[in-house]
Amino acid sequence: MTKKYFEYLKSIAWRNKRIQAFRFHGRKCSICGAKRLLQVHHKTYDHIFNEPMEDLVVLCIPCHKKEHGIKKVQKKKRKRKRNSLTTATAAKAI
Ligand SMILES: [Zn+2]
Ligand SMILES: [Zn+2]
Repeated sequence: MTKKYFEYLKSIAWRNKRIQAFRFHGRKCSICGAKRLLQVHHKTYDHIFNEPMEDLVVLCIPCHKKEHGIKKVQKKKRKRKRNSLTTATAAKAI
């Protein structure tokens, strides 16, 4: 997402929208029903800056992270080094 979007999340307009969203959807996670660590998630960014309440959903932080597919994926880094090594040795051969 753009820098503009992150600025929007810090704005008073968004703060008010969040309050509206909590009133509209209720102060609980729509997935697990948790009542703490709540955040407002965008189902779609099609109407960003002017979202109807239907585009927003209340989620707790763990469910929100899952919704964005944030998992611990930190593998597959080693193979790249090998590639650069082989190209380095290939360059020397020339
Ligand atoms: Zn939840
Ligand atoms: Zn979200």
